[in-house]
Amino acid sequence: MKYVDEYRQADRVETVLDQIRETVRQPWVMMEICGGQTHAIVRHRLDRLLPDELELVHGPGCPVCVTPIEQIDRALAIAARPEVIFTSFGDMLRVPGTNTDLLSVRAAGGDVRVVYSPLDALTIAQANPNRQVVFFAIGFETTAPANAMCALQAARLGLDNFSLLVSHVRVPPAIEAILSAKGSRVQGFLAAGHVSAVMGYWEYPPLAERFQVPIVITGFEPLDLAWGILETVRMLEAGEVGVANAYQRAVTYQGNRPAQLVIDQVFEPCDRNWRGIGLIAGSGWRLRPAYASFDAELRFDVGPIRSAESEDCIAGRILQGLSKPTDCPAFGSACTPEHPLGATMVSSEGACAAYYRYRLNAPEPALLEERRA
Ligand code: SF4
Repeated sequence: MKYVDEYRQADRVETVLDQIRETVRQPWVMMEICGGQTHAIVRHRLDRLLPDELELVHGPGCPVCVTPIEQIDRALAIAARPEVIFTSFGDMLRVPGTNTDLLSVRAAGGDVRVVYSPLDALTIAQANPNRQVVFFAIGFETTAPANAMCALQAARLGLDNFSLLVSHVRVPPAIEAILSAKGSRVQGFLAAGHVSAVMGYWEYPPLAERFQVPIVITGFEPLDLAWGILETVRMLEAGEVGVANAYQRAVTYQGNRPAQLVIDQVFEPCDRNWRGIGLIAGSGWRLRPAYASFDAELRFDVGPIRSAESEDCIAGRILQGLSKPTDCPAFGSACTPEHPLGATMVSSEGACAAYYRYRLNAPEPALLEERRA
């Protein structure tokens, strides 16, 4: 497949890995922001093929993982109401709230449906005028444009039985929080290519300057990741601060302006809690007052929400790059994908799920296997 296969060729990746080995002179810690990048790195064993001087730590860029537990509990309370059809992407159904998850609500009789687009939820609302249809609008800058379009379309259609339970988060405030945190070890960032395809990278230079770090826009295939790591190492070794784009086939400095405009039309910045991390100022989006009639939090009074995390789960430390999944005593024993204690074990982008899937079950480095074959 064009633009995919050529970025997965082991010999090309090995060439860049050799350049990384030739470039690195001293220890560095860098963070890949995105959970999709974490999965690709662990799946292709890139972290094990890097020189010992380089350590990759995993960031908070997994939307399922960072959706705050109180918002999961609110979703559970809304989904259990008899008049509601609760719609969501499938990966949210097994994310544990304080006492249960959406899949269990469905098993108990709640009308919880998996959709593949927020527009599917609109179609369900049109087909069920006597029910209230709610879409769980979570995610980063990547999902926000489609959810914003959904609110616009609901307004055009004049739907009064549709609403969004919004829990959007943004990458730049998360980078700022990670670099401001006491004990932060991160010296450079691989920024998420798909977020940058939407937002561009005009928000990053002030962050790079303020914290004196390199930020490199990086894609998701093994060759993309190796390029991003090479550029970050090169900048670190040269003492360069700033932003570089190692994903030029998809990302421009300005990004997708129409998508940014539709986000700005529907959403406004707000403070947001990140699961396991806590409140990050200005890190979320919520519906603007003009679209408040589509806000599920205002439409449904579910009473006070009292949430509590599993005491065993250290996902918050993992999402800040302070620990690895294998540091968690519950990893692979009390916590597995079948019986997850935390969101990072549930999500297809969660670091714990990646380590469980690719570390416990397939210990051989994949790129080396291909090279030997
Ligand atoms: S292994 Fe499970 S309990 Fe441990 S940090 Fe990951 S999700 Fe939490």
